[in-house]
Amino acid sequence: MEHIPMCIDGEWIFGEKDIHVYNPSTGKPHVTISNATIEQIDQAIESANRAFDSEEWRKFKPFERGQLLVELAQFIRTHAEQWAQLESLDVGKPMTQARADIEAAARYFEFYGGAADKVMGETIPIEDGMLNAVVLEPVGVTVHIVPWNYPIQITSRSVAAAIATGNAVIIKSAEDTPLSTHEMVKWLKERLPKGIIQHITGYGRDAGAYLSSHHDIHHITFTGSVPTGISVMQAAAQNVVPVTLELGGKSPNIVFQDADEEQALEGVLRAIVQNAGQTCSAGARLLIERSYKEPFLAKLVTLFEKITIGAGEQDLDMGPLLNETQYKKITSLLEMAAKDGHVLTGGKSLHIEGYPEGYYVAPTIVDGLDVSHPLAMEEIFGPVLTVFTFDTVQEAIALANATAYGLVAGIWTSNVNTAHYVASRVKAGQVFINNYGAAGGIQMPFGGYKKSGIGREKGLVALRNYTQMKNIAIRYTAPGGD
Ligand code: NAD
Repeated sequence: MEHIPMCIDGEWIFGEKDIHVYNPSTGKPHVTISNATIEQIDQAIESANRAFDSEEWRKFKPFERGQLLVELAQFIRTHAEQWAQLESLDVGKPMTQARADIEAAARYFEFYGGAADKVMGETIPIEDGMLNAVVLEPVGVTVHIVPWNYPIQITSRSVAAAIATGNAVIIKSAEDTPLSTHEMVKWLKERLPKGIIQHITGYGRDAGAYLSSHHDIHHITFTGSVPTGISVMQAAAQNVVPVTLELGGKSPNIVFQDADEEQALEGVLRAIVQNAGQTCSAGARLLIERSYKEPFLAKLVTLFEKITIGAGEQDLDMGPLLNETQYKKITSLLEMAAKDGHVLTGGKSLHIEGYPEGYYVAPTIVDGLDVSHPLAMEEIFGPVLTVFTFDTVQEAIALANATAYGLVAGIWTSNVNTAHYVASRVKAGQVFINNYGAAGGIQMPFGGYKKSGIGREKGLVALRNYTQMKNIAIRYTAPGGD
């Protein structure tokens, strides 16, 4: 079995202990990775600091960094099919979704590549004889801790912004999904000064925790669950290291009776079955106007039952869950749903012919739960939609805001006034009106209200995560005096 090495201080390195990486579609291991040791992580951080402070990196011009990132985007597109296969192998995604993720990665490198020489400071008027400049400098060594659900997209979005602004980057990929990051690092390693790009693998509780608690790093971008985000923030706080946290969600789709029905049905369906519901911004709660509930749900159930499910390589509508842990968690939650609510469709695991050990479950709709039920409040991270009804706009807003999360919200109505009013009252970082996801939205700031996170990624605003401000005041006088 191939062993995927780490990239530390410009070398391909193996750790002490091997971790098997499984293909979710088959339940079989396909590669191994290393659990990085503390000494190896220290070495990576030392190397990254050396590289960041080097004259070689300082002299790498912003437009050259940008050109490099745009070239990477081109390389990714040229190898899109191969990279999509790797992503599908690691995550179990249907190939069509994996291809979309690879294209999104290319777009991130292109977008931030184009921005690299446009990150500008400003001058402030003080008085005659004083020039005051605000300069945006890179923060230094940036750590990127990545989850397993969209590995290539999530790694690319922060790594592209960090390199564009001139930082040294250390990636800690999720233990389940190293392959696409390895390909990306292979390409960058050959073109960047030694130590500017490094890739560490290993368990979160070991490698991730040690990295987060290190005193010699300068920013952490963490994408993952709320409990881990809290640990990372606590560890970083000890060293006053800033964090950007992109955490979980329990996002609502709010459907009014006057919605375009076809659009709303399709939007609600895709928002929960994409990536088998293993999406931070999954539309996990349907909030539906009471008078419209029965006809809408009847059609939605029919659509759910048409969803085809199979291995990533079969490229159907939905793939498997990531691994045994996810599978056990989701199947036990489905049992809870059957006991405490009313399962309208799904609610069971599936056997897929030819893939007997894959982790498949049916897309599920659960009605009749109490609004405070854990299935209604907590992120499930599987293809499970919970349904609640409202009579008034105020009730819809209260339900939308009822959880501890606030990542995104969908609003489906043909009434412009209702749409704007609800959007203004919903506590979420992104609001979609009569769409869900805006086709990926590389350019749109993304991040959470409440426990869904701190800070924003994507868009030009994310460049600020990777820069810090220096204010320089210069006194000048008339030559020879006046
Ligand atoms: P996770 O929190 O278990 O792990 C995320 C990463 O953190 C992994 O690389 C893991 O190895 C590492 N990690 C684990 N324990 C750690 C520790 N103590 N210290 C430092 N690092 C540690 O999350 P997951 O299961 O990989 O991903 C699913 C979660 O991610 C969901 O909650 C989902 O909503 C969230 N997510 C959020 C976004 C977003 O942009 N807001 C995007 C994707 C996923």
